[in-house]
Amino acid sequence: MDFQTPIKALNRVGASTALKLARLNINTAGDLLWYLPYRYDDFSQQVKIADAELGTKVNLVGEIQLLNNKKTPRARMNITEALVGDETAMIRVIWFNQPYISKTLAVGDRVSLAGKIEEDFAGIMMKSPNFEKIASGQSLHTQGLVPIYGLTAELSAKQMRFLMSQVINLADLINDPLPEMIRQQYQLIGIKQALKQIHFPKNRTEADQAKLRLSFDELFYLQLQAQLLRLNMAQERAPAINFDESDTKALVAGLPFKLTDDQRRSAWEIIQAMAHTKPMIRLLEGDVGTGKTVVALLAMLNVTRSGGQSALMAPTEILASQHFVSIGRLASASGLRIALLTRTRHQLTGVETKLSKSKLIKLIAEGSADIIIGTHALIQEAVAFKKLSLVVIDEQHRFGVEQRQALVAKAQSQQTPHLLSMTATPIPRSLALALYDDLDISIIKERPKDRPAIITKIVDESSRDQAYEFIRAQILAGRQAFIICPLIDPSDSLGVRSVTEEHERLANSVFREFSVGLLHGKLKPKLKDGLMNDFADNKINILVATSVIEVGIDVPNATIMMIENADRFGLAQLHQYRGRVGRGLAQSYCFLLTDSIEDKSRQRLEVLLRFDNGFDLAKEDLTFRGPGEVYGKLQSGFPELKIASLFDFALMKQAKDSAKLIISEDQSLAKYPLIKAKLGVLEKAHLE
Ligand code: ADP
Ligand code: MG
Repeated sequence: MDFQTPIKALNRVGASTALKLARLNINTAGDLLWYLPYRYDDFSQQVKIADAELGTKVNLVGEIQLLNNKKTPRARMNITEALVGDETAMIRVIWFNQPYISKTLAVGDRVSLAGKIEEDFAGIMMKSPNFEKIASGQSLHTQGLVPIYGLTAELSAKQMRFLMSQVINLADLINDPLPEMIRQQYQLIGIKQALKQIHFPKNRTEADQAKLRLSFDELFYLQLQAQLLRLNMAQERAPAINFDESDTKALVAGLPFKLTDDQRRSAWEIIQAMAHTKPMIRLLEGDVGTGKTVVALLAMLNVTRSGGQSALMAPTEILASQHFVSIGRLASASGLRIALLTRTRHQLTGVETKLSKSKLIKLIAEGSADIIIGTHALIQEAVAFKKLSLVVIDEQHRFGVEQRQALVAKAQSQQTPHLLSMTATPIPRSLALALYDDLDISIIKERPKDRPAIITKIVDESSRDQAYEFIRAQILAGRQAFIICPLIDPSDSLGVRSVTEEHERLANSVFREFSVGLLHGKLKPKLKDGLMNDFADNKINILVATSVIEVGIDVPNATIMMIENADRFGLAQLHQYRGRVGRGLAQSYCFLLTDSIEDKSRQRLEVLLRFDNGFDLAKEDLTFRGPGEVYGKLQSGFPELKIASLFDFALMKQAKDSAKLIISEDQSLAKYPLIKAKLGVLEKAHLE
């Protein structure tokens, strides 16, 4: 077996398991090895049955004395019941709906059990503990720290650990890319050891050592990438952009609102940075709703006046279309020629006729468009520019370094365009500097003053009707509402209100007097655009949606954001949703629906009532959920880190210094072929 061995070659992986693993991006033995657990169940407390304390999580070893399997007549549940004894006492064990257990285990087997000690009418017991036969050698599921992996619904934790045990020794084949001197300086264990210990640590210390090493690596490669990009860019020359004071003032004067001081300052910083032939690389950071778009527009206006083109890349079609409309509106008096290029949409302001894609691409190449707004299509399609001088990336965390670079590389002249990345992630300056080195940052802290703070409420099932009545009143007053549901699939076994069912219910009964739209990721882009436009024009009163609307959507007339099963989302994501309202002058509301009776998930939601900035929220979220859950998925808005913590500034600094050291020794990385190879792999992964 090697890293490339297809996952199907593993023991007990058939076609269907392989498919499930593929959904987690695990296709080879190597992929599996790098699939890291996000936490551990701690069963290091081994006790005798007589000493087992109620409420503790423990590991017990004993012999099966009795085993039977039965069906409850009414609930149709299958119950496997066992009596397990050691030399001190007996304990009752129950498993639900896992009839195969009575075939796997037999009276007389020595088993190891891991779980919580509970109590019912008949005395102490364990409910659905992890179990394994002790004779089968090494314990995978019940002793010490047991790894927990992020899984799809149909893969079991047990299966995952069993598969992992088959590939774990592949770790021995890895050559450590990290030079000995760095490892020693920061007391990092070797990569082989780290991988083995992250999956199957003997104790906390081993797990911590492994986490430290792998976190360091993650940050180190991120730093290397960023620093190399900077070095490359620094050698390039960019077109110097002149500040066109009168046109800038005219555009500002024509806006339907007054710019905030932060917006003014940011715009000025950007315009100044572009005045040089050194390419600007700048992050424009501002929480949702702080008005980043118009700042970018001011930069783009000046680029146009200096004879250059600007490209604005957004992560979704909806967002790109919306930018096209709203920027067009804000700049209507300035005569800017704005193009929209996505997979399905090809438009140019002032051109009434329907443009074909090739025609639009031709017009862009000829310089007949000043601002080109689009999605990934901008890099994927055969788009060429006449004179690309500025690249703006919206929601930058959605794109990899290489995608940004690919767009920058589209400037086919000798000159490199300036780069402005916009993000709604309110990263504190110190953190941003630790992450991005000396990248220039403009920060918009201030929100437009005239807007009242959003009122956030947790709504129980029992108050649902009241919430609906409230929404009704708002709509009758001319406002609009979003209703977000977590999943699309009606057969969803977790009982989550699916968006389609919910839409039907709302459209046909609760809100049948209103126009209720349905938006989800499986709709054709055209339909989606149409829906969003109708919503923006207030032809749709209520938009029922999945997470598609997470980023960027701007409909100032919407004043209600209602989120179903709010406890299923991360706080940072909920905050993003909330940011979809409160964009106009009217009072806005965010309703967090939950039927969870768990105190913990309720407390977690309550954090949203106390904080209204994304950074504090992400930090709070960490205390409720593991970093894997908070940061492991794209939802957080932070750079996607698998294992490292964004709050570990010290480690970040070490990784940054180490990257600097390597680059100062050999910028080409020829001396460090393993590091170079690793970076190559990372880039490929990003581009997919
Ligand atoms: P974001 O920073 O989340 O991308 P947008 O740029 O989409 O925010 O702006 C949010 C909304 O606020 C838009 O409707 C925009 O026109 C409006 N807006 C921007 N700046 C101001 C301001 N200074 N005063 C009032 N409204 C503003
Ligand atoms: Mg935005």
